[in-house]
Parts: sequence; C-alpha cells; structure tokens
Amino acid sequence: MAVEFRNLMEDIVMQNLDIVMAAEGGCTCDACRSDVVAYTLNHLKPHYVATRQGRLMVKLKSCELQSRADVVAAISEAAVMVSKTPRHGRS
Ligand SMILES: [Zn+2]
Repeated sequence: MAVEFRNLMEDIVMQNLDIVMAAEGGCTCDACRSDVVAYTLNHLKPHYVATRQGRLMVKLKSCELQSRADVVAAISEAAVMVSKTPRHGRS
C-alpha cells in the first residue's frame, strides 16, 4: 500500500485564494493566480500529512483553523505583490 505525502497548506491556500484575491481587487487571470499561489506557499510553513491511496491518515485539527488567518494574510500580501509586477501579457 503506497503512502504519499500531501501539503495541506496547498489545500488551505486554494480554498481561500479566490475570495482573498477578489478582496484585493487585483488581476485574477491564470498567470497571476498561479504566481500568487506560488508566492504564498513559499512564505508559509508547509503542513505535510501522510495519505494512503489519497485518504488522509491524520485528521485536520484546530491548529489548521488558527493558521487560516495567517494564510489569508499571506495571500493578501502575495496578491498585492503580484498586482504590482504582473507577469501576464509577457511572453
Ligand atoms: Zn493577470
């Protein structure tokens, strides 16, 4: 049975991405969205869990909820940064 590792922080960022980017009012094209995700994930501590055939072996605990505020703050910062120097339109 294969054990895989998955960064839960990625899920939490994706869950909050659209609403935070909309609140910042910046561009939400694919290029900008992926830049915001990459920037955010580089500035947050990863939260890896072991999964077996895609099923989580560890349940989310309340500490994840607490970190949501940090995630939202990191996405906001990334959205502002990306909107200042957007990559879209550059070839
Ligand atoms: Zn864009």
